[in-house]
This record gives sequence, structure tokens and C-alpha cells, in this order.
Amino acid sequence: MYLSGKVGVVTGASRGIGGAVARAFAASGADVMINYVSRAQDALTVAADVEAMGRRAVLFQADVSRPEEANRLVENALSSFGRLDILVNNAGITRDALLLRMKDEDWEAVVNVNLTGAFNCTRAAARSMIKARWGRIINISSVIGLMGNAGQANYAAAKAGLIGFTKAAARELGPRNITVNAVAPGFIRTEMTAGLSDAVKERLSERVILGRLGEPEEVADAVVFLAGDAARYITGQVLSVDGGMVL
Ligand code: NAD
Repeated sequence: MYLSGKVGVVTGASRGIGGAVARAFAASGADVMINYVSRAQDALTVAADVEAMGRRAVLFQADVSRPEEANRLVENALSSFGRLDILVNNAGITRDALLLRMKDEDWEAVVNVNLTGAFNCTRAAARSMIKARWGRIINISSVIGLMGNAGQANYAAAKAGLIGFTKAAARELGPRNITVNAVAPGFIRTEMTAGLSDAVKERLSERVILGRLGEPEEVADAVVFLAGDAARYITGQVLSVDGGMVL
């Protein structure tokens, strides 16, 4: 088992890509802390799947954009499992609007969850990883952080910021044997993209060399790779999982 004996904390793991990562971690032998902010029933479903694979799942409700809640999330992982090997900063939201119409609260909410949330959780988790002299941090960015998108200035800024954060954290934590990488998914079939019209989905798919939207499990496979031993000499990188959308 590729992640045997490891413990992973996955933020925003109640559905979508985070849920797929939690399941893929369990399938690879890791125990998982499933963070969610609302919709506990969804998180319970993911936990049941993890347990069905013979791994431990612990649920923890926390809004990662609040530093004290991110701290409690990490403290709870350490007290529940006695260790924390892998952190996946996956929690994310969109609040799309054209620049001139974007409200302050749309900007702030998106930056606070997608970027500050990753900082809050990384700062909280890094201490125990430094002590253990081993750790893996994986930040879920986006193709939008690489190429921008009209109507998503807040999201593009947060996801591009997350790439800068990944590189800085990789430099700081590398000497402690902690790798920090980002994954940049393309358009993936989750709730976040469910609201797009068929016409928009078709237009987006046309930009994808592989000609279709991606599945959450296809992102999760890349996260599992980065979390395990095969990726031990990879840090500060951005791995696009986008069917060739950004070349
Ligand atoms: P989703 O909406 O299905 O899931 C988002 C998850 O984040 C949910 O579990 C939600 O509860 C959680 N979350 C939201 N705010 C939170 C908060 N303050 N604290 C803790 N958890 C919070 O979306 P998804 O598509 O699975 O997105 C997962 C990640 O992947 C996000 O960071 C998103 O930006 C990124 N991403 C998604 C796509 C895509 O096409 N779906 C593409 C690129 C990047």
C-alpha cells in the first residue's frame, strides 16, 4: 500500500475533489481526517467509504479561513491519530462576477478560503511535520490561477497566490524534509462546475486536448502520487491535471 501507515488531513473533503482524495488515500492505506464546513451528511458518506476500506476516518467541522478553526483542525488530527503526515489544502469556493461588479465581500470570501485557508492550515500543520522531519503538503490550485478567466478575478488571484505560496513554503520547509507542491486541475466534474451551462461545458471541453471534462478521481490520483514516496524528490512544483488544457 503506497500510503500505508500515513495520516492525511483533507480540507473540504465532504464532496468533489476533496472527497475523492479522502477515498483515494484510504484505498492507498492512509487514515484520513475529513474536514468539512457544512453538510455533515455528505462528510459522513465519505467517512463511511473510508471505513469500508478498513481505514480510520475522523470528521472535523472547521472553516479553514478562520485561523483558530484551522488550528483546532490540526490539533484534533494530532490528538485523534497521534501524527499528521499529509495535508491537502483543497477547500475552495467561487464567487464569480465581472471586475467592475465584483463586491468587496466576493473578493474577500474567495481569497480568504482559497488562499488564506491554505496558509492557516499549513502554518498549523508544519510544526508537527518539522518535528517528525517528514511531511507532504499539497495545495489544490487551478488552471485559472495559471491562465486567468474573465469573471473570476478573485479566484484567479487566490489560485495564482496559492502557487506563489507553494513555492515559498517549499523553500522554507524543504530542508526539514517536507515537500510542498500544487496541483492545478482543469475543468473537473463536481458541484463547482455543475452550474455551468451545457454550452459553456462544451466550449471548455473543446480547449481540452483530451476532449472531455475531468473526474475528481483523476485529480485524486495525482494527489496520491505527490503524497507518497515516489514523489520524494519533487517539491515546489505545479502539476496540471487538465487533460492538456494549459499547454
Ligand atoms: P466543491 O464545491 O464540490 O467542493 C468544495 C469543498 O470545499 C466542499 O467540501 C466545501 O464544503 C469545502 N469548503 C468550502 N469552503 C470551506 C471552508 N471555508 N472551510 C472548509 N471547507 C470549505 O468543489 P471541487 O470542485 O471539489 O473543488 C475542490 C478544490 O478544487 C477547490 O479548491 C477548487 O477551487 C479546486 N478546483 C476545482 C476545479 C473544478 O473544475 N471543479 C478546477 C480547478 C480547481
